[in-house]
Amino acid sequence: MLKNDQLDQWDRENFFHPSTHLAQHARGESPNRVIKTASGVFIEDRDGNRLLDAFAGLYCVNVGYGRQEVAEAIAAQAKELAYYHAYVGHGTEASITLAKMILDRAPKNMSKVYFGLGGSDANETNVKLVWYVNNILGRPEKKKIISRWRGYHGSGLVTGSLTGLELFHKKFDLPLAQVIHTEAPYYYRRKDLNQSEAEFVAHCVAELEALIEREGADTIAAFIGEPVLGTGGIVPPPAGYWDAIQKVLRKHDILLIADEVVTGFGRLGTMFGSDHYGMEPDIITIAKGMTSAYAPLSGSIVSDKVWKVLEKGTDENGAIGHGWTYSAHPIGAAAGVANLKLIDDLKLVQNAGEVGAYLKKTMTEALGDHANVGDIRGEGMLCAVEFVEDRAERRFFDPAKKIGPQVSATLLAQDKVIARAMPQGDILGFAPPFCLTKAEADTVVAATARAVRTVLG
Ligand code: PMP
Repeated sequence: MLKNDQLDQWDRENFFHPSTHLAQHARGESPNRVIKTASGVFIEDRDGNRLLDAFAGLYCVNVGYGRQEVAEAIAAQAKELAYYHAYVGHGTEASITLAKMILDRAPKNMSKVYFGLGGSDANETNVKLVWYVNNILGRPEKKKIISRWRGYHGSGLVTGSLTGLELFHKKFDLPLAQVIHTEAPYYYRRKDLNQSEAEFVAHCVAELEALIEREGADTIAAFIGEPVLGTGGIVPPPAGYWDAIQKVLRKHDILLIADEVVTGFGRLGTMFGSDHYGMEPDIITIAKGMTSAYAPLSGSIVSDKVWKVLEKGTDENGAIGHGWTYSAHPIGAAAGVANLKLIDDLKLVQNAGEVGAYLKKTMTEALGDHANVGDIRGEGMLCAVEFVEDRAERRFFDPAKKIGPQVSATLLAQDKVIARAMPQGDILGFAPPFCLTKAEADTVVAATARAVRTVLG
């Protein structure tokens, strides 16, 4: 086995890490933790530190680490057939079975699954499908996509544009002109409006209507949104938000893309977030939880309505000119089949709902009265704690103080618990694997309360 200092040197010399402060990392100022193994909700590094991962990697290892059933399905698939493509009607038993399993679980009126590799390429596919559809329908001007500030939809060119976070635009010449943003349904942050929650929903609707009016409904193809804002702060929408937004979209013949990369396959305690909020999307983005990240795989579930146009399009134009070498990769598909079976067999969706509710409740009991904790929120196995300098005024900390990152680092250093400092705002995010037990939730809450007190008193 290589020595740690050798790996450390090679890492800093050779490895261009994503979403990393490159200069600090090269100077050795940021941690380069080398993860070696994992089981359940715990990961272990090369130094033998055992860390409770209360963010399931990047909210993706939903069934927990070290599941032999999934590992064995991957190994068996690799031995039998590691790869064949899915172009011109080819498939494997795994990819065909997985498509069927997904449709069996999907919200009503869904028709087919297109497979990709990650959430970003799936949303790239979605934008292209929406454009293709409008070209087939003879409305080539109807192409813009509306996204929300603080939405997260990937970090490619169009998907980084859909993402409504400054860090993902800055110095990359994004967003592209075809993408426009509207208000995030983030009630807690809009105290300045002095509105009830219902009035705030009406405000979001009015903002959307005004944007559509300004741009022209005949230039807007689709609206994309996560059922619960994820990377933008883990923010469940106010009551009635999705109903009200959908009314506007229907009125203007604007398609709805539900980005369920985080919420798909159980994180909210229901199979899909769309079920949870009564959304009726035209396209659903899936990734992470479809394989619990045991292999890269994503997908776009398209509705009957969209499928009919796509089918017609190929009669007019020939085969659809969109495909990845690794679309429906057999190893990813085998992982997906085993993962979805495991979710059913262990009743993990139910557990996500129950233990998630317990996590939020106990977090609120432990920290709800703290002077610098402004909001504790969540849905299913998603929870967030937002820090403020002044609770009554709802005044936020100067971002330069990095309160969120400090609490997260302290939590890790003191009690070996991983929670994520969300990228915009002082928000500590929790998205544990669905197999989290109540005892493990207790550990997370006690450690978080201790870290908050260490940093903020
Ligand atoms: N959509 C959502 C809602 C996400 O949370 C993410 C990733 N965090 C993506 C899309 C992009 O997925 P990927 O990183 O796999 O490209």
